[in-house]
Amino acid sequence: MNRRKVLVGSLLVGMMGCLPFAQAADKGLIGISMPTKSSARWISDGANMVKVFTAKGYKTDLQYADDDIPNQLAQIENLVTKGVKVLVVAAIDGTTLSDVLKKAADKGVKIIAYDRLIKGTKNVDYYATFDNFQVGVLQASSIVNALDLKGGKGPFNIELFGGSPDDNNAFFFYNGAMSVLKPYMDKGKLVVLSKQMGMDKVGTLRWDGAVAQARMDNLLSAFYGNARVDAVLSPYDGLSIGILSSLKGVGYGSPKQPFPIVTGQDAEVASIKSMLRGEQYSTVFKDTRELANVTVDMADAMLSGKKPVVNDTKTYNNGIKIVPSYLLKPVSVDKSNWKKILVDSGYYTEDQLK
Ligand code: BGC
Repeated sequence: MNRRKVLVGSLLVGMMGCLPFAQAADKGLIGISMPTKSSARWISDGANMVKVFTAKGYKTDLQYADDDIPNQLAQIENLVTKGVKVLVVAAIDGTTLSDVLKKAADKGVKIIAYDRLIKGTKNVDYYATFDNFQVGVLQASSIVNALDLKGGKGPFNIELFGGSPDDNNAFFFYNGAMSVLKPYMDKGKLVVLSKQMGMDKVGTLRWDGAVAQARMDNLLSAFYGNARVDAVLSPYDGLSIGILSSLKGVGYGSPKQPFPIVTGQDAEVASIKSMLRGEQYSTVFKDTRELANVTVDMADAMLSGKKPVVNDTKTYNNGIKIVPSYLLKPVSVDKSNWKKILVDSGYYTEDQLK
């Protein structure tokens, strides 16, 4: 190597030391436990957190549990053995983690519940999530607007779907939606022909689209032989796609029999494409980049002996304590604003959605 090359090389090394992302300091290992790769949002959540933690000088170990509870427990136990300083956990079943989190806390590990509340333990330090009640409000409001219920139209038939009963969020989504829909049900402007209401009847274990599709098949054949379903409250895009397949199966989606208003959540690519084809009506976008930032800031603050910023200390009681939380704002997306919200913000490129 000649002198010039050596000089340029050492100059580059020197410059890298000044770049914000080229931190040499190792601030420790962060364990990230995500529920599943079957939905795109969790893949983005994991990737965004790794990016932001790395930029701040942390190492990360990211695990996906295939929606299998014992798998998630084993993965978390393993992360604790590896010596993580913080655990970030999006639980599959929010009630199953008490023992493993006690082991973690006993070793001084800090614990952040990510997106989904961890229940039944004092060993959860903070909760980073979105305003989950508001998610349901937005889903229901998109039905109210699309059917012009405020303008006095109706009655319309609606069927309700809930999320997984082992996920605390599912109850917030459902209750938020019902806070908007119930007054119209009471006035007879929205009618649930099946009479299936309440999370015990409409919940969908593990957020499984195939389960929602099968339930929609049953509803259509049992209650809609001679009637039209005008709206379906769906709490998650993966369920919406299953529900829409079921509807297509009995002839919805033609000019004579248009699709009902079907809601969703997560702004997944398949659902945005469906929306652009005129099938799914709306979704709720939750910017996982922002959630990653909030979570990393919480972890960084705790590890630097500072107090993480929270904006809610009342809502999320996990049965043992109220977990201090940071709630981000969800945004309703439909044909009128998808470009502005999803493309202009750089979340997707337009090509990804075509
Ligand atoms: C999340 C939603 C997601 C659902 C299914 C919920 O806990 O908050 O964003 O749609 O899980 O993965």
